[in-house]
Parts: sequence; structure tokens; C-alpha cells
Amino acid sequence: MTNEAMADVVVVGAGIVGLACAWAALRDGGDGARVTVIDRDFEGDRASHGNAGGIAVTESTPIAVHGMFTKAAKWLMDPLGPLALDWKHVPKALPWFIAFRRASEPARFHAISHALALLNNRVYDDIVPMFDDIGASAMHYRRGALTVYETDEAFAADQTEWAFKRELGARWHALNAQQVRECEPSLAPVFRHGVFLDDWSHIGDPRRIVTLLRERVRSLGARFVTGIARAVESPDTVLLANDERVQGRRIVIAAGAWSAALARSIGDNVLLESERGYNATLPRHGIELTREVIFAERKFVATPLDVGLRIGGAAEFAGIDAPPNYRRSDALLALGKRFIPGIDDTDAAKWMGHRPATPDSLPVIGASPRAPSVVYAFGHGHLGLTQSATTAALVADVLACRTPRVPLAPYSISRFDN
Ligand SMILES: Cc1cc2nc3c(=O)[nH]c(=O)nc-3n(C[C@H](O)[C@H](O)[C@H](O)COP(=O)(O)OP(=O)(O)OC[C@H]3O[C@@H](n4cnc5c(N)ncnc54)[C@H](O)[C@@H]3O)c2cc1C
Repeated sequence: MTNEAMADVVVVGAGIVGLACAWAALRDGGDGARVTVIDRDFEGDRASHGNAGGIAVTESTPIAVHGMFTKAAKWLMDPLGPLALDWKHVPKALPWFIAFRRASEPARFHAISHALALLNNRVYDDIVPMFDDIGASAMHYRRGALTVYETDEAFAADQTEWAFKRELGARWHALNAQQVRECEPSLAPVFRHGVFLDDWSHIGDPRRIVTLLRERVRSLGARFVTGIARAVESPDTVLLANDERVQGRRIVIAAGAWSAALARSIGDNVLLESERGYNATLPRHGIELTREVIFAERKFVATPLDVGLRIGGAAEFAGIDAPPNYRRSDALLALGKRFIPGIDDTDAAKWMGHRPATPDSLPVIGASPRAPSVVYAFGHGHLGLTQSATTAALVADVLACRTPRVPLAPYSISRFDN
């Protein structure tokens, strides 16, 4: 390969995170920045296409909440409950689960939460300019979100966490049953409490955002290479499955739930699981919902997207290759029908996607300690859409050798060396 053909930056992965990194690198590099994006299928399905569309900036506590483990045992008894485990996968995932448990310990929980808040509290600084630039502002709905509770007990049990989230920067206020009904009249009249989240927003269609971003990245001059990245062969070379090589001065790994194997190929360890999530999208739902609703006890959400009402949730650990179990989408749909009476499920589309989940809920952002030309941008779990542009801004800082706008130590891949 000639020097001419060597890109400044090669990005592996064209989901929302990889494309945002390519977009930021192209804009940062000015005219003549040479960016190559590799994906095995640029148009194919991915987590970034089917997610719930929430810009969930208040979610600054890790998934491993202290005390959840008793609840988890109960959830696991229900085969279609919010948490599912393929027991055959457990031996492989055991180190991940041990680390997950550790993330709930109070000191660690607090440190993780502050690191999540550092990202989440600057999300709009980064994502609004990106939406503006790709022509997506009109489908960005800043109407807040509503968490609803059926029981006094569950609402009371969450108060410590809500107070902590406020300390971390989240703006919210509690609603009584009457106010919940006024806020979202389509909900079943069973909710005794609500929490209105002022700063949450949602987008009209996650897939459309990815398409707009991809087209913008293409128009800014990126080269697209279709192929499966097999390994980072050397600090400036990505080896593809067809034995072709793609070279760049810097390499960004943003391959979502598939990123661990690429990190391992240059000697970096990471604990990464596919936390498989499901949904059903109802194009003819026929009800009015203004904002995303989070059903606290049942662990599912409903988002009024432009493409239909999306009812989603579930966390299934079965490995990345197991076939989807769409009975989970059916179970979510049944919950949706129960709590949003009268929805029409004609032409409902079922979907499963791979959340790239680290055990501590923190993404991996920053340079490889073993090969500093390689930069990581993966592991965003439930928040990949939310944190995409902020991750991209930080990666751009690293690529340009600037001091990152947020200190990157908490997100370093080296945390998995311990
Ligand atoms: C049910 C569900 C609901 C969610 N809701 C929300 C939400 O409301 N808000 C939010 O912020 N987040 C949400 N998420 C999480 C969010 O969707 C993910 O965190 C995000 O999409 C991850 O983006 P990504 O670009 O890292 O990965 P992906 O979108 O999975 O993209 C990875 C890309 O890498 C490519 N790739 C992988 N390996 C290779 C390889 N070896 N060679 C070449 N190409 C490769 C793939 O083809 C793919 O295009 C949700 C996820 C699920 C499943």
C-alpha cells in the first residue's frame, strides 16, 4: 500500500458511534482529512437502528444497582421477564457477572455514576450540533420523559437513587396520580406516582439518524470499505477476513458488541457482553403519547417514534450468536397493551439488538495503552445513541492530540487489566 492510500483515520464499525467518530474526525481534520470507514454491511441491521430512540441523559447510575440481585433472582424465574440468562452461556460470561456484581459496591457505584454524569451532562453540547449538521433537528423531540410507578413501595424504594441522580445533575420532579394522567392521558389509570425527567428527549427514528449520518460522512469525503475486520494486525493496519489490509495512521475501534475480539488482537483485554434487547414497533398504534414513558416496575419503555410506537426493553444474556427469541417482543407487546389500553398492534414489527455492555456500564473511550495509535469507542450499553456525539468529540480530541474535554481515565480499557 502506498503512503497515498494510507488514511489519517480508519474507523471500524458504522453504527451510530463509529459514524459519529468518523463525522467528528472529518470535521476536525478540515479539508483533505482522509477517513476510511469499514463495516461488514453498511445498510444492515444493528443496535443503532432499532433502539428506543431515547436521549437518556439522566441515566447516570450504572445498571448494577445495589440490591438489584434479589430482584434479579425473581426476574430469572419468569422465562419472559425483564432478565434472561442462557445457562449454557454462564461459564463464558462468569468474569463479566463477577465484575458486574463488583460495580454495585457503594464506592465503585459512586465513582461510576460520576463518570457517567461527566458524559451525560454534556450530551446536548455535542449531539445538537451533530443533529443540526446532518439535518435531523426536526426529528429531535425535547419533551422530557416520564417514569411511572404502580406502587407506593417501588416509588419509595427508588427515592435514594432519584436524590443521587439530582446530585449528579439530573432535573426531575415528582408527579401524583392525577398529574401522571394529565401528562399522558393514554396510560392506564393505574399509576400512583410519576417522575418527570425534564432533560430527557427522544428522536423520531434511530435508523433514519444513522442513514443521515452515514450520508453526511460520505459527503464529507469518507471512503467506505465493505468487509469484516478480523484483527488489528499492527498499530496502523486492519486485516480483513478476505486478507485485504486497510491502513491508517490512527485506527478507531467502534464495532459495538463485536469490539472485544479486535481489542484482543492487539493484546487489550476487555469484558464485553451482548446484552440483548427486544422491542415491537407498532406503526398503526392509534394512541397519543407525547414523550417516552419508562415503566419502573416492569422494566420496559414506550417511545412515540415517527415510525410508530416502540415498546421495548429486556436484558438477555445468551451470547452474540444465539438466535433471537421473539417471544420476548411478544411479552413486551403484551405489557404495552396492558398499560397503554387500546393500542392497535396491526403490522407490529419485532426486533432484537445487541447492546455492547461492559459490566460497569461505562463505555471504553481512549487510546490503547499497548498501541496508542488505536483508539477505542465502544461498550455504551444502554446509552450508545445518547453518548454517540460526546464519544466522538472525545475521540476527536485524542486523534488531534488535544487534552480531552473530559478526563478519560475512567473509560480506559486498562481498567480491565486488574
Ligand atoms: C432494545 C434496545 C433499546 C435501546 N435503547 C436505547 C436508547 O433509548 N438510547 C440510547 O442511547 N441507546 C439505546 N440502546 C443502546 C444503543 O442502541 C447502543 O448502545 C448503540 O446502538 C451502540 O452503537 P454502536 O455503534 O457501538 O454499535 P452497533 O450499532 O451495533 O454498530 C456496530 C457496527 O459495527 C459493525 N461491525 C461489528 N464487527 C465488525 C467487524 N468485525 N468488521 C466490520 N464491521 C463490524 C456492525 O456491522 C455494526 O454496523 C438500546 C439498545 C437496545 C438493544
